[in-house]
Amino acid sequence: MKFIDLKKQYSKLKEKIDRGINNVLEHGKYIMGPEVIILEKNLSDFTKSKHVITCSSGTDALLMSLMSLNVKPGDYILTTPFTFIATAEAISLIGAIPEFIDIDSNTFNIDMSRLETKIKKEPNKYKIIMPVNIFGLPANYTELFDLKEKYNLMIIEDAAQSFGSSIEGRMSCNFGDIGCTSFFPAKPLGCYGDGGAIFTNDEDIANILRSIRVHGTGADKYDNVRVGINGRLDTMQAAILIPKLEILSTEIKLRNKVAQTYNQILDKHFDLQHIPSGYVSSWAQYSILCDSSKHRENIMRKLKNKNIPSAIYYVIPLHLQGVYDHLNYKMGDFPVSEDISSRILSLPMHPYLSSEEIKQICDVILGD
Ligand SMILES: *Cc1c(COP(=O)(O)O)cnc(C)c1O
Repeated sequence: MKFIDLKKQYSKLKEKIDRGINNVLEHGKYIMGPEVIILEKNLSDFTKSKHVITCSSGTDALLMSLMSLNVKPGDYILTTPFTFIATAEAISLIGAIPEFIDIDSNTFNIDMSRLETKIKKEPNKYKIIMPVNIFGLPANYTELFDLKEKYNLMIIEDAAQSFGSSIEGRMSCNFGDIGCTSFFPAKPLGCYGDGGAIFTNDEDIANILRSIRVHGTGADKYDNVRVGINGRLDTMQAAILIPKLEILSTEIKLRNKVAQTYNQILDKHFDLQHIPSGYVSSWAQYSILCDSSKHRENIMRKLKNKNIPSAIYYVIPLHLQGVYDHLNYKMGDFPVSEDISSRILSLPMHPYLSSEEIKQICDVILGD
C-alpha cells in the first residue's frame, strides 16, 4: 500500500500526459512555452482568480508574494507554527520575522481570537497575515476578512496544501490578496517535479510578480528594474499539469469520499480534524489524534508491521525548530500546536484508495 499513490493516477492519464510531454519535446520551448500560458488560463478559470503566475515551487510562490508587497527586513508577518517550514522560511529569507499565533484545536488552522488579541495590542506592528490552509482545510476567511478590514492588513494565503478546496463554492487560492500554491508531487494537484503558482485579482501585483519571476525584468529581459529571482515553472511540468487539472474536481470528490469512509469507522475512537459546514477540504492529509505520543508510536508500529505507511505532520512545531532559536520561543508558548504535534498521525490518503483498503487500515489501527 502507498501513502500517496501517484501511479494509479498516471495510469488513468497516461495517454494525455505522454502526449503532452512529447509535444514539448517536439516544439522545444522548454522555458515559458505555450503550455505554461494555457495552464495559467485554466488555473484562472478553475479558481476564478483574475491573474495566475505559475512559478518554480510553493516556497518561491510565498517568497515572491512577500517581495511583491515590498516586505522589508525586520517586518513582522503573522502565521502559525503548525505548518511546513517553508511558510516561515519564505518570511525569513527576506529578513522579515515570523510572528507565530497558535492554532485552533479543532481545525488546526490559525486561532482567530488569539490572532485578534495579538493584533489589537500593537495594531501598527503588522501589515500581513499569512494563514495556512492546513492539510487542505481553508482557514477561517470570513473572520480573516473582518480583521483585514478592521486593521488594514493584507492576506497571503498559504494554499500549498489546499488547491481545489473551497468555502461556500469560493475556491482556495482566491481568498487572500495573494494566494500561493505548490505543485510538489504529493500535493492535491502535483506535477512530476517542483512547481507552484501565485493567484491575485490585483493587476499591479500580478505585473510585479511577473517581473520578479524573471529576475526583476522591465521592458525586456535585459532591462532590470527590481530584484527578482529565476522563478519560472518548466513548460514540461505545465504540460503534465494540464490533464491533471481536468480531473481535479472529480479527484477532490473522491478524496472527500475516502475521508468520509475513514470518518465513519474512526470517529468513535479518535478526535479528527473538524471541517466546518460550507467548507470542502482537498485532504492533502487525513489525520487522526491519538491519546498520547506513546499511543501514536504503538499505532505506527502496528501499521508498519502490516506494511501500511503512516506519517507525522508535524513532529516539531516551528517555534521549537533550531532555525528559530534566536526568536527565543520556548516550550509552552503555543500549547495547542505542541499538543497536536505530539499526538497527530496521518494515514494513507489519495483519490484512488479503495473502501477495502481503508477498512484494512482501520482494522489494524483498532486491532490488538
Ligand atoms: C509544501 C508546502 C510548501 C512549499 O511548497 P514547495 O512546492 O515544496 O516549495 C509551503 N507551505 C506549505 C504549508 C506546504 O505544505
